[in-house]
Amino acid sequence: AAPVILVTGGARGIGKGISSYLLGCGYRVVMLDILREDGERLARDLAHLGDIRFIRADVADEDQVSSAINRIRNWFGYLNGVVNNAAIAEPYTGPLEFLALEDWQSYIDVNVTGTFLISRATIPLLQQSQGAIVNIASTRWLQSEPQSEAYAASKGAIVSFTHALAISLSGQVRVNCISPGWIAVDAVSENGHLKPVHLTETCHRQHPAGRVGRPDDIASMVKFLLSNESGFITGQNFVIDGGMTRKMVYE
Ligand code: NAD
Repeated sequence: AAPVILVTGGARGIGKGISSYLLGCGYRVVMLDILREDGERLARDLAHLGDIRFIRADVADEDQVSSAINRIRNWFGYLNGVVNNAAIAEPYTGPLEFLALEDWQSYIDVNVTGTFLISRATIPLLQQSQGAIVNIASTRWLQSEPQSEAYAASKGAIVSFTHALAISLSGQVRVNCISPGWIAVDAVSENGHLKPVHLTETCHRQHPAGRVGRPDDIASMVKFLLSNESGFITGQNFVIDGGMTRKMVYE
């Protein structure tokens, strides 16, 4: 049977791109997201490409995570890979001195604790399948714009969580991390609908690779890191940013 991959935050943005890419490569895909309408619609829209299913769950909720993984166990009986992509992906929170504890906490809950809960719940299945985990961090693990401390801290935690878990699961489950730079995803407009972001020549030209990133730039690396082609790679963080973090920016 085709390998089964769980993609969290799979209903929109990069997670949606990863889900459809993996489906196109012949994987069975389970998307998990808090957005029921988007997730169910995407599963319907992509059903002609293969076996894709949606589970509505919050990665930061222990009970919801545990029942989601039980559903996967009942559906398939096995799981080959996990992509921890769900996050509060908006980096800006305003000045730190005005950041409410509950807002700080929500970044940590979703981005860090969510990655922990999903990983913990899926390890037994991944051990059985000699599977792999891919965590999605950000180049903000390494560099920052102002007023993004909570997001940056959460992404730094994911990079460290990755190497720690890779060592704990030595010989059983490979664990790697991708740090995307700027990847253009649809923005949510005032009426709640998704619309493509407008990218200018300046947006593209500043990147050494000559353009802003696309979800497939991340999805193809996810596929590689899930497959046996990367069987000698674990505990690593891969920066996919069009070269931006290699560029000198002194003014
Ligand atoms: P996005 O907001 O478009 O998508 C995030 C998805 O996660 C959404 O579908 C959302 O509903 C889901 N989600 C949020 N909270 C959740 C929760 N508690 N439980 C389950 N699902 C939840 O963001 P994106 O740009 O596609 O980002 C995807 C990942 O890539 C994130 O980890 C983000 O930090 C990272 N990233 C994105 C960029 C970029 O430029 N787009 C750059 C670096 C890193």
